[in-house]
Amino acid sequence: MKREIVRRSTSQRELVLEAICKGNHLSAREIFEIVSKKARMSFGTVYRNLQILVEEGRIIAVEADPSVLRYDRRLSSHYHLHCKKCGKVFDMPLSYYNDLDKNAGGASGFLIESHTISFKGLCPDCQKEA
Ligand SMILES: [Zn+2]
Ligand SMILES: [Zn+2]
Repeated sequence: MKREIVRRSTSQRELVLEAICKGNHLSAREIFEIVSKKARMSFGTVYRNLQILVEEGRIIAVEADPSVLRYDRRLSSHYHLHCKKCGKVFDMPLSYYNDLDKNAGGASGFLIESHTISFKGLCPDCQKEA
């Protein structure tokens, strides 16, 4: 009985993980919409699985969009861009600035683990429409 529950939650988690791969920085609501086409899972269950996946380090939560948390399967440190018109979140094609962690640690006395930067503006498509 117990094993049954474990297996079920694991396969639910795999479905959630699969759904994240279907898009680019999807929100919990968007992930729920993809998952609910394949399985009967409540929004709360999807959300709980997302939290577990973040805790396990299998996905990261991206805060670039101020209106909603988004999820990312790309685990290496990278920056994000948020388009204020279409609301999409993109990966910034610049490498992570390791020296900033060192400098911030030196300046503050903190043992810095990482930093995040999100850039805001208009994506190329939205610039064309403007
Ligand atoms: Zn845009
Ligand atoms: Zn990303």
